[in-house]
Amino acid sequence: MTGKRFCRLCGGEITLHGSRTARLTLCDDCRARILGRYVYRLEHHIVSKETCCLVCGKPIPQGHGSYTTCCQAHQTLLNYVTANYRKARASNQDKAWKEAHPGGIYTPPTPKRVLSPLGRAEQEAREHGLSYGQYMAKKGGMAHEV
Ligand SMILES: [Zn+2]
Ligand SMILES: [Zn+2]
Repeated sequence: MTGKRFCRLCGGEITLHGSRTARLTLCDDCRARILGRYVYRLEHHIVSKETCCLVCGKPIPQGHGSYTTCCQAHQTLLNYVTANYRKARASNQDKAWKEAHPGGIYTPPTPKRVLSPLGRAEQEAREHGLSYGQYMAKKGGMAHEV
């Protein structure tokens, strides 16, 4: 292992500082550029299809499914580069909503993933305002008085 990595986009040498960068193999310049373009789209509420890939700048092929990248590999890169930003933005939206609705309870959009039976039971328990144990005891008729 040489410890040297080269940016997969511009070919520049990368100083490794953390596993995330190592996995991405993108230099700071390229990361900043990709994130900058992504942020620009969001802040200007641009939802139309880009003509060029946000990652490599090449034209996006006609009929390609993605609006922002030319291929699946670059879509994955974009997701990695923007992950922290998207997380921060989501929590800011949460905060902004709470300020606009004092005393309101923010309900984030229901996640689309399918819950495991255990996860489902836990969610149902929460909806009934019970702990998981209490809920299961009630539901299953298990005679555990709490
Ligand atoms: Zn680069
Ligand atoms: Zn690309």
